Amino acid sequence: MPLFDFQCLACGAVREVLLHTGQSDPTACAACGAEVRRLLSTPADLKRMDGFFHKDNASDSQLASKGLAKYVNRGDGTYEKASGSGPSIMSRDTLLG
Ligand SMILES: [Zn+2]
Repeated sequence: MPLFDFQCLACGAVREVLLHTGQSDPTACAACGAEVRRLLSTPADLKRMDGFFHKDNASDSQLASKGLAKYVNRGDGTYEKASGSGPSIMSRDTLLG
């Protein structure tokens, strides 16, 4: 799931938004309601994404605040939800569709 930065055209506030498949871009600034535009991804963003998903250095509450669910590999090809919203168990087959 890609993470994008959106910047307000009026007040300049930048907000990170995790866009799920099929979800449309946010169109209004959370602070002032003005129009926002998507910023181009940077290498720093990709590095941060990598940290979230592979290094387990984000707390459950940090993940939840970004709308992410945390899953723990049970070692048998299935993943059990540790926090966030989503199915309680996901299998590798489910993840790969
Ligand atoms: Zn704004």
